[in-house]
Amino acid sequence: MSTVPTVGWIGLGLMGQPMALNVLRAGFPLVVHNRSRGAVATLVAAGAAEAWSPREVASRAEIVVTCLPGPAEVTEVYLGADGVLTATRPGMLLIDTSTIDPETHRQIARAAAEHGADYLDAPVSGGTTGAREGTLTVMVGGRAEAVERARPILQAFGRTIYHLGPVGSGAIAKLINNLMAAINLLGVCEGLVLAAKAGLDLDLFCRVIADSSGASRSFSGAAPAILARDFRPGFMIDLMHKDVTLALDLARQVGVRTLAGALAQQVLQEARNAGLGRQSTAAQIIPLEQNAGVTVQRPVSPPSAEEGRADPAPGERSGG
Ligand code: NDP
Repeated sequence: MSTVPTVGWIGLGLMGQPMALNVLRAGFPLVVHNRSRGAVATLVAAGAAEAWSPREVASRAEIVVTCLPGPAEVTEVYLGADGVLTATRPGMLLIDTSTIDPETHRQIARAAAEHGADYLDAPVSGGTTGAREGTLTVMVGGRAEAVERARPILQAFGRTIYHLGPVGSGAIAKLINNLMAAINLLGVCEGLVLAAKAGLDLDLFCRVIADSSGASRSFSGAAPAILARDFRPGFMIDLMHKDVTLALDLARQVGVRTLAGALAQQVLQEARNAGLGRQSTAAQIIPLEQNAGVTVQRPVSPPSAEEGRADPAPGERSGG
């Protein structure tokens, strides 16, 4: 009889689908469920079994992993009428990789313990590329024995696994990471808008920044997408807004002032109000551009020799 546990997976979105595929490729039998069914079909074609509810996933697996948008969905999937906990048995291991607040994790962990099961919060960083390539950073909270048991699965999608402490501590690290990333990204967007409006050659400016102290992972990720006007997600503004809001809630709970975080949240909200919530986080530059009357983009191809001018003026380069 195989000693490889059957893994149940719930949530097959931009992150969950490639992460689940990596768990399947690592040799774990997989049972999958998602609210919409398209992604389920992809996993089934790759060899996974299909389930129709969180309860069914839990009843057919020994380890359950979830990758869902936010606290409401995670609560429903674990604690709802047809949720994972309704079929959780002693000895099971439940792992949530979503980015949510620590208190929701603690609540679910207590409910899991009443069924004799272990629960880990294991949010991830590294985006859809990291999910596809199995190179995510995983921030885990929970009992050390449970972390060791989870490790082979976490290693299927994560390159670096950090155990931060009890349940909820992975979430705290992840929320602070995203708060920092959002503040960084706001700086990137403000800088690019200013560079465009002031008439710099934007490609050259980006090369300068990449070699200077203004560089960051937010910069290297967002700047090429902004210049190419490619705002397909990736990581959506709605999700970043959720994370920054949860980070600010955490800051309030522990009594920490977060001025820059509050600014980042307002800019994200402004972008959501402009209908950009399901675009990549780089799209938050659009309201800033509108405010400045400039667009951060490469100039259209230079006109041919017959058409006359070879080199557009700086204002034309930046579209503004
Ligand atoms: P998506 O919105 O792409 O995926 C979420 C998935 O959960 C969707 O497929 C959705 O189904 C499914 N779902 C929602 N509610 C339920 C439910 N009740 N039952 C079953 N399935 C459900 O989000 P991402 O994959 O981008 O993100 C997932 C989590 O990972 C979030 O917490 C996010 O903050 C975090 N994260 C995201 C990163 C990124 O770069 N995208 C990077 C790191 C972390 P449906 O198809 O019906 O919407």
